[in-house]
Amino acid sequence: MATLDGLPPLRDVIQRHGLDAKKALGQNFLLDLNLTQKIARSAGPLEDATVIEVGPGPGGLTRAILSLGAKKLIAIERDSRCLPALAEIGDHYPGRLEVIEGDALKTNFAELVPEGPVKIIANLPYNVGTQLLLNWLLPENGQWPPFWESLTLMFQKEVGLRIVADEEDDHYGRLGVLAGWRTDARMVFDVPPQAFTPPPKVTSTVVHLAPRANPLPCDVARLERVTHAAFGQRRKMLRQSLKPIGGEALLTKAGIDPQRRAETLSVEEFVRLANCL
Ligand code: SAM
Repeated sequence: MATLDGLPPLRDVIQRHGLDAKKALGQNFLLDLNLTQKIARSAGPLEDATVIEVGPGPGGLTRAILSLGAKKLIAIERDSRCLPALAEIGDHYPGRLEVIEGDALKTNFAELVPEGPVKIIANLPYNVGTQLLLNWLLPENGQWPPFWESLTLMFQKEVGLRIVADEEDDHYGRLGVLAGWRTDARMVFDVPPQAFTPPPKVTSTVVHLAPRANPLPCDVARLERVTHAAFGQRRKMLRQSLKPIGGEALLTKAGIDPQRRAETLSVEEFVRLANCL
């Protein structure tokens, strides 16, 4: 039976190419093309966009991105077993899909698209998702705004909550400060375990991040030092947890009450602390 994009159903593709899911590669596949289109649509209009996808697997999300009109899609997949299935999608959309076999953690993404802004869309392997997000938020070359214009990413819900958390929120921590400093981050919708094959243990969520054009000026390494110290002992008062990096004197200099706890500080206050280091 044909599907809405004229390619075979994903279940058949997986069977024909012997793509049984490997846990070590974080493989939980999405087979419902209506759902993958919903995810791709949350990246905004894709007509004429350049998109990077991490971990296309058998290609459910890849197909959605292409069917929604992306002019160019570069997909990075570590599992060579998936390449023949992806080649079939490339044949269906001539000249628009480029598949790179490789490890996303070792990929220089900015170099892939020197000509301009790109949307990154991915149902991420959970074991590398947070690290990839940090690589995109804190690029080594320090360039900001970055090479990407938006990130539309699937995470375990718990991680999604940490990314979008503000102060006073139970999930607020280093990830929330870094994402809040440099981006507008929001959760788009949840995806239940049974939407995946095989189903993971927990609910997932799609997060959308757009870079702030002018985040508060701050040195990344200093902000990292402050959040690391503060959230390393999040239940303690800051005068205690920040002792190794200046303690009460630093807090006074930044105009912050030393009796407060890490989770009560806004992103702006963390930036102030970092700038006083
Ligand atoms: N996009 C597909 C979907 O939505 O059905 C597959 C998603 S699955 C959660 C994660 C995919 O990432 C798998 O295809 C896996 O092989 C791939 N992967 C795992 N680690 C990777 C890495 N370090 N670099 C690139 N791809 C990776």
